[in-house]
Amino acid sequence: MGIRNKIIIILVIFSIVPAIIIGTIAINTGTNALMRNIGSASLDFSESVTSRVNDYLFHKYENTLAWSSNEQFALALEHGLHYADDTSSLLEDIKQAYNGYHYIALVDSSGMVVASSGQNQLKGEALFANKMALHAALQGRQSFDGPMYDDAAKEYAFNIYAPVKNFKDSSLNSGVIIASLDWEMINEMISGIKIRGKSQKMTDHIMMTRSDGLAISCYDPEEMFTDNLITIGMQSARWASEGKRGFLVETSEHNMKSFSTYSYLPDVQGMPNPGWLIIILQDYEDIFSSTRNLRLVVVLFTVSIVILLLICSYVLARKITLPLSRIAVAAKAIGDGNYDHMISEDSNDEVGSLASSFNTMATKLKMTMSDLNDSVEEAKQANKAKSAFLANMSHEIRTPMNAIIGMTDMALETELTTEQREYLETTRISSASLLVLLNSILDLSKIEAEKLKIKEIDFNLISVIESVISMFSFQAVREGIDIDFTVHPDVPFELNGDSNCLRQILVNLFGNAIKFTNKGSISLYVAKVAGKDESNQTFILHFSIHDTGIGIPKDKIKSIFGRFSQVDESSTRKYTGTGLGLTISQKLVNLMGGKIWAESEQGKWSIFHFTAGFRKGLPLEKQETKLLFDVSKDFCKTDSLMILLAEDNLVNQKVASKMLEKCGHNVQIACNGREAVEALKGNKFDLILMDIQMPEMDGIEATELIRNSKDSYIDPNIPIIAVTAHAFEEDRERCLNAGMNSCINKPFRKQDLISEIDRIVQVNRF
Ligand code: ADP
Repeated sequence: MGIRNKIIIILVIFSIVPAIIIGTIAINTGTNALMRNIGSASLDFSESVTSRVNDYLFHKYENTLAWSSNEQFALALEHGLHYADDTSSLLEDIKQAYNGYHYIALVDSSGMVVASSGQNQLKGEALFANKMALHAALQGRQSFDGPMYDDAAKEYAFNIYAPVKNFKDSSLNSGVIIASLDWEMINEMISGIKIRGKSQKMTDHIMMTRSDGLAISCYDPEEMFTDNLITIGMQSARWASEGKRGFLVETSEHNMKSFSTYSYLPDVQGMPNPGWLIIILQDYEDIFSSTRNLRLVVVLFTVSIVILLLICSYVLARKITLPLSRIAVAAKAIGDGNYDHMISEDSNDEVGSLASSFNTMATKLKMTMSDLNDSVEEAKQANKAKSAFLANMSHEIRTPMNAIIGMTDMALETELTTEQREYLETTRISSASLLVLLNSILDLSKIEAEKLKIKEIDFNLISVIESVISMFSFQAVREGIDIDFTVHPDVPFELNGDSNCLRQILVNLFGNAIKFTNKGSISLYVAKVAGKDESNQTFILHFSIHDTGIGIPKDKIKSIFGRFSQVDESSTRKYTGTGLGLTISQKLVNLMGGKIWAESEQGKWSIFHFTAGFRKGLPLEKQETKLLFDVSKDFCKTDSLMILLAEDNLVNQKVASKMLEKCGHNVQIACNGREAVEALKGNKFDLILMDIQMPEMDGIEATELIRNSKDSYIDPNIPIIAVTAHAFEEDRERCLNAGMNSCINKPFRKQDLISEIDRIVQVNRF
């Protein structure tokens, strides 16, 4: 995620969260304040309602008490039915005079009706009266009963019990006036109240219940005396029944959210508390609709702030990040090597100074990179020069080496004492290993000086493998090690590629395998790597050489491909070597478009793998494998030849002529190119061995003269073999371009020289 987006997100989060918190607080505070206001207004209202009800009840009670002290009632109780009719008419008169009574009855202490309003209908009957209320009234206490359904009146009623004193002893009560109030009048005082005037909602009303929750006054007559608010789970009713007053938001059984205010009917002026509860229910959504608007305003306000902040954040983030992204682009350009990429420094703030420092850094980096490139180039040149120097040096060493090896070989073929032979054998072994070292250094130098080019020549894979194996077969037989090879049927034998490189890699790997294997076997397996472009006739071959030798420790398996690297680097090494074989092999493999790697288990086995690219080659005649190790073999196959040896170095003249004469050839020596050309004029030669570096006229010039000669005494097609201590490919090419038939490197072994002469003479005959 880019810095710009991060800045925007952070700013937005930091603005949205407070905006939401502030908005929520505002909504809650508003709602709570509104709730408190409405709640206290509702409580006031319920207070006024209760006081109205109380006043009414008290008033009725006072009235009842007032006229119940009429002596007529005491008299009626004293004399019973004798006064009943008069008393009943009196009661009827009272009922008519005082509004709101169903009936009024005078009962004796056992609850029997002595007289009653309404033409004395109840006279002589035991009035269904609340025993406790009756008893309380007889005791002189104020009491009441109801509200309840009065079967006689078919109405709801509320009874007031007032004591009637004994006619003789006014300290005793001998009966009770039961005044049944018309409950409908009380109900109307409550149920008729519209809380907010025009509301039609079911929840907008006031209810009165008994202390047990039974509705005794309600807007819906159906619900009266049926619904129990506590049983249906109304918290407001429960709390009111516990003597609490207050308000809360609750959900009714009909799933309607209501704002409930609850209180109870208090004691009034000595009248016992009936324990009734007053509940006001109001439609929550309705009364809090104003907070909905508040909520909407807050949300709109928050959203506008967020949008504003988003725009500000974007502008701010862009202002900060634009120069930074310019710097990032410039840094990437510099990373990609474009050191000229500069940033405009158009501000004086920190970003501007960052851009300026960046530009300074880029300029310095450019200069440093330029110095570095020069240094790298110099180092490359120096490395090349070093490699070229090394290669030339080995040329200088090869010339005397030629003499040492040749002379030692020849001396060994003469009559010698045992001691002399021993000395010479030591010389031969030492010079042979010196030659191996020299060749390795030269090979590496050639590769590093980029003088080695991969050739594309047709060759037979089996011949190459056999020739390599034959080099080691003598040693293998001597040490009791089996060597074998398997080529997968998919692999074509006729290949086109660099057989010399392949041979050298195989020689290095087989050489190591035989060196580090004391018993067991060495096997080569060749297979084709699948998936290469077959139509183009190019493919990759996978070679693996498995030996049962000493193996390589796991931690060394990669480092052995490094220069001069050996597993056992202690000075008392058991196995001799230069530590260059694998380095050279790796470089050759890379030149052939492949790779090399090894796997091994220490003390058990090693497998060296390498891959290399080839094309399909033209069929060749399979060449017979030369067993080069076999020194006892007679190399002199060709008949006696007349050979002209053009060589300026006296020792080399001696070495070569002795070797050739031992094979029965006649040798004439020329000390330089000019002498060689002159010698051709007087004599018939079968072949010239031409050194390249000679005073007066070098081998190249002399060859060109011979090849272009119009002189009838000179055969321009005479076979010429170059003998050179220059080991570079370009030297070899120079020789062949000048017209020479082949090229042999100094120092050469006798068998190599003789074989090459044989080959060239054979080729020239056809
Ligand atoms: P050299 O053999 O001349 O020392 P190389 O570069 O050919 O140099 O090999 C480097 C080292 O790798 C060897 O010295 C040896 O320790 C280890 N090595 C190479 N081939 C094998 C093998 N087949 N078995 C065990 N060790 C090997």
